[in-house]
Amino acid sequence: MAATPSATARDLPRASEHRAGCGPEAGVPASPRSTRGRWRAAVLVAVHAVIAVRVAHWLATERTLSALEPSEAGHSLAQGVINAGLVFMVLLTLSTLVVGRFFCGWACHLVALQDGAAWLLGRLGLRPRPLRSRLLAWLPAVAALEMFVVPSVLRMVGDGPRPAWQWHLFTDDLWARFPDWPVALATFVVCGFVAVWLLGAKGFCTYACPYGAIFGLADRVAPGRIRVDADACEGCGHCTAVCTSNVVVHREVALFGQVTDPGCMKCMDCVSACPKDALSFGFGSLPPKRPADGRAKPARTFDFSWPEEFLLGSVSLASVWAFRGLYDQVPFLLSLALGGFAGLAAVLGLRLARRVELRFQRSVLVSNGRWTPRGGVAFVASCGFLLLAVHSALVRFSAIEGERLLRTAPGAEPQRTAAIESALVHLERARHLGLLVPKRLHNQLGQAYFGLGREQEAEADLRAAVEADPTMTVAREVLLELLVRQERLAQAAAVLWDQFEAAPPDAAQAAARAPLVVRLVQELPDAVEPRLCIARIQLALGDRDTAITNLERALERFPGEPRLVRLLDEARASEL
Ligand code: SF4
Ligand code: SF4
Repeated sequence: MAATPSATARDLPRASEHRAGCGPEAGVPASPRSTRGRWRAAVLVAVHAVIAVRVAHWLATERTLSALEPSEAGHSLAQGVINAGLVFMVLLTLSTLVVGRFFCGWACHLVALQDGAAWLLGRLGLRPRPLRSRLLAWLPAVAALEMFVVPSVLRMVGDGPRPAWQWHLFTDDLWARFPDWPVALATFVVCGFVAVWLLGAKGFCTYACPYGAIFGLADRVAPGRIRVDADACEGCGHCTAVCTSNVVVHREVALFGQVTDPGCMKCMDCVSACPKDALSFGFGSLPPKRPADGRAKPARTFDFSWPEEFLLGSVSLASVWAFRGLYDQVPFLLSLALGGFAGLAAVLGLRLARRVELRFQRSVLVSNGRWTPRGGVAFVASCGFLLLAVHSALVRFSAIEGERLLRTAPGAEPQRTAAIESALVHLERARHLGLLVPKRLHNQLGQAYFGLGREQEAEADLRAAVEADPTMTVAREVLLELLVRQERLAQAAAVLWDQFEAAPPDAAQAAARAPLVVRLVQELPDAVEPRLCIARIQLALGDRDTAITNLERALERFPGEPRLVRLLDEARASEL
């Protein structure tokens, strides 16, 4: 049951914050402190210890639970695969339906990162205040739709293959879908420090996190909430002052007897900081739509006018598209944060150009119609970041359009050549404009050149692609075809063996490759790679005895050759 707010609480001024001075009068410290931070830190250490155990398990057994990150749920839905990430996400959502967003407050490393960033910035004298936007607050919901709903719908109504659902709870490649460490580091810096600095504490949770959107929705119907003992509450606002999720706790408990804001992460800081022990976590009825005494809920205030909101929202959305997957590197979460910053840069740039007086966070940017030094820096940074977003959009559009034209090139000539030439124009533009040439672009360029018979250029790009990613089978296949077509069989044998090393063939792939390998063995009697390839194929086809015999003979011809020795050991071990 929701408690009835006391007269003191009801009489609170509408937008009152922590009332300075009320603490000492009541015999409590003026700066409220929570003792729950240590507990949360301990829980987070435990969470990371579990992650370390999982990595150790994988290192020891080369197999462990498939990726647990909630982002894996979206990937899984698109592929029709039920992995550990999807199961974890469902369990978290179900738990949130009961106890609210405890996971966010106690076990999410991004929340820990933002809290740590806010603490560090505070030590540097930077105390960013939260920006309040109507439209940007919808970005997490849009991201959640894109991440979880769109893949499922496309899978149901799309033209592509629709394999039956499969379980994939274990993996032997733990790092398969993690970004490279520089990108991971950039994600932590941007989603933690920069988000907190520009958007305020929990800036990433409020304006970017797609999981937060789902958990926030579930939290609205959760019976587990922060509730108030209305008789004990004095309305001092210590709870609001300590809340890093920007919940106006004292006002909410005064009006509803409980915290209703779905941004509440149940961190319990307010419970800990309340000098009257008036707050607690408990189960009960959901909050009424309106305050119990019939008063209207105070209107929320925002930092942007409606035209600014539209500018912020549209630039943010477009920029998320521009940054997402850029150079095969930028993960979705990072693109959400970067998109939000681009929207903010657009609004800030506009305000700098038009305002006579302007502050951002706690800095004066324009005074008496003149830019301060910080204003100049802010303008250059805003314009620079917007230019980067536009540049990224051009690169990404060129790469996507080139890939589409290449993929949909018709089979009949001359339309096919025309389509590949158009694709090549876009792909080359992506190469020349881009700051990096990712392996996927190399692969597509190689295929386009190969399709046009420009084999020298094709080989250079295909080799760059397989060098960057030895498991890129498509590029390797085309490169192999090119080398065989040019009768460069020794190089073809080396490429084929590298492919088998990167990804051993299954029975069907082995059978398809067998004629080429037999030819390589016949025509290259002095090369070791064809012998390795034929043994690998025999192993894939289950003919271990012949593979072992062939490897032993090959070792007589090439004594001590390490690859032959290793494959022979593997063949003998597989026989046991
Ligand atoms: S709940 Fe506690 S900290 Fe919050 S306003 Fe009431 S007395 Fe103050
Ligand atoms: S309202 Fe209380 S429990 Fe919820 S996030 Fe704020 S401090 Fe934490």
